[in-house]
Amino acid sequence: MKLDKKVALVTGSGRGIGKAIALMLAKEGADVVVNDMDSDSAAKTAEEILSIGRKSLVSVANIAVRAEVESMFDAIKEQFGRLDILVNNAGITRDSLLVKMTEGQWDEVLAVNLKGVFNCTQFAAKMMSEQNAGKIVNLSSASGQMVNIGQVNYAASKAGVIGVTKTLARELARFNINVNAVSPGFINTPMTEKVPDKVRDMIKSNIPLRRVGEAEDVAKAVRFLVTDDSDYITGQTIACNGGLYI
Ligand code: NAP
Repeated sequence: MKLDKKVALVTGSGRGIGKAIALMLAKEGADVVVNDMDSDSAAKTAEEILSIGRKSLVSVANIAVRAEVESMFDAIKEQFGRLDILVNNAGITRDSLLVKMTEGQWDEVLAVNLKGVFNCTQFAAKMMSEQNAGKIVNLSSASGQMVNIGQVNYAASKAGVIGVTKTLARELARFNINVNAVSPGFINTPMTEKVPDKVRDMIKSNIPLRRVGEAEDVAKAVRFLVTDDSDYITGQTIACNGGLYI
């Protein structure tokens, strides 16, 4: 059990990659704060964590809204008194070609994928710096590196996450806080289930490992980055994409 006595917050962990991360960290011994805007799915993840034998706290904070994030951190302080691990996983897409993209689509994606990371990381860094220890992992995307037509908002946010990761790795190193990113390729989750079969097959044919990824593939990379196995790694982005983007 590499995460015994650790407390982790995983944003957007009601489903998909976030849920797989939350359960994997609980299996390693961590108590996990489950954040998601959907209270039913968050409660289900929390129940599974309890059945593993770990403690859990549900927060339905919208990470884009500063006051809600502040309340979530107040609750974490009250229930656990500490935070060892933050996984900035929650993210959204609102795809459109530039010429058709509304200002709302741009703002919404940047608010969740980038400002949400800023909000959660700022509160977490305060707690972690007082403890002089912490691990932060941000979810970027291959779409922020190899880029796709119709995702200018998403690509900007996910490339931005890599900039945030590198900057905070330098800034928070003095407090013994590691900041890294995981950049998934095409992963089977509710986010990608609407992708038409034709497009899915086309993407799959471009993946050297010849399969799309599963949420657990990403969770394993995150698990590595939050245990002491990665104590001397900071400011890095691990691609978890089957070779889709090398
Ligand atoms: P997903 O299935 O859509 O799950 C995302 C979760 O985040 C949902 O439960 C969602 O809650 C929650 N969420 C959305 N906005 C939120 C907010 N403002 N505050 C709190 N929670 C919020 O997505 P996923 O595929 O697991 O993706 C997880 C992360 O990996 C994202 O950052 C995504 O960009 C990244 N990623 C995914 C892929 C992929 O192929 N799936 C590839 C590269 C990167 P609701 O249920 O309320 O919407």
